[in-house]
Amino acid sequence: MCVENERGEGQEQSRVDDVDWIRQPLLFRVKTRKVAVITGGASGIGEATAKEFIRNGAKVIIADVQDDLGHAVAAELGPDAAYTRCDVTDEAQIAATVDLAVARHGHLDILYNNAGITSSSVGPLASLDLADFDRVMAVNARAVLAGIKHAARVMAPRRAGSILCTASVAGLIGSEVPHAYSVSKAAAIGVVRSAAGELARHGVRLNAISPHGIATPLAMRGFGDVLAWADAERLKRVIEEDMNELEGAKLEAEDIARAAVYLASDEAKYITGHNLVVDGGFTVGKRLNGQEQSRVDD
Ligand code: NAD
Repeated sequence: MCVENERGEGQEQSRVDDVDWIRQPLLFRVKTRKVAVITGGASGIGEATAKEFIRNGAKVIIADVQDDLGHAVAAELGPDAAYTRCDVTDEAQIAATVDLAVARHGHLDILYNNAGITSSSVGPLASLDLADFDRVMAVNARAVLAGIKHAARVMAPRRAGSILCTASVAGLIGSEVPHAYSVSKAAAIGVVRSAAGELARHGVRLNAISPHGIATPLAMRGFGDVLAWADAERLKRVIEEDMNELEGAKLEAEDIARAAVYLASDEAKYITGHNLVVDGGFTVGKRLNGQEQSRVDD
């Protein structure tokens, strides 16, 4: 396979590429370098994805509200990374970030709607704080729709583009996490299902990724609110071990980053409207196995 990169290397490389293509990073296997915007890219899953995208040859704009961290991450990732402030609850800032990518690189190939927050309303329904619900929905659901709207604005005319959204296993199962968070993630999956058909007719793909627990700052805060008795070390164990279903493996932010690379790449050219669950079998395993086991025990 012949790959043309920005330095104009292409034809000379073709024999090497023919032999070596399977070892090449996915995003290199396209004619031009991909341009990506990652919201919430200053930390956790977003940061790991920025790293993985760049390793695969993309140019990345990290869009976040943690300015110091965002600048530091971009500097560490080198010249293919840049940081811009973007509060995703403000549609104008999302529009400006998309426009920045186009102004700087000529087009936008990938938008990863990944920014997220947890809910601090952890009690039963009777004490649900609806102001907290609105705050969580604004970041985890409304901003996802706004991101899709503005990415599609620049992608549809080119009949190309891949939009990703970080949902969660919390959007698939009722669970111990706060209602506002579960509902917001179910909404993100719903937005993908709602919009993917329309975007497909414009050549734009739209997919969700639903991770299980990873001990990022968000998860540590979220579980810390629910399990107020647990110290940081215990919380990390709850997230990484107690909830793990897949023997011999531990979920890491890099696993989500690699899923994002696949869905964003041309390798996934026919995949749209999909929710890729990355949970080591959690949503299909524990409860059912528990019931099966108890029936056997009975
Ligand atoms: P994280 O705390 O490391 O990263 C979240 C990022 O989002 C932060 O950099 C934060 O500054 C940014 N952000 C928050 N509000 C924002 C806003 N208004 N505008 C722009 N950026 C904003 O946590 P993470 O776990 O990497 O979270 C990434 C996504 O993954 C979130 O959508 C989260 O809900 C989802 N998720 C996480 C887990 C987990 O266990 N860590 C599981 C499932 C889904």
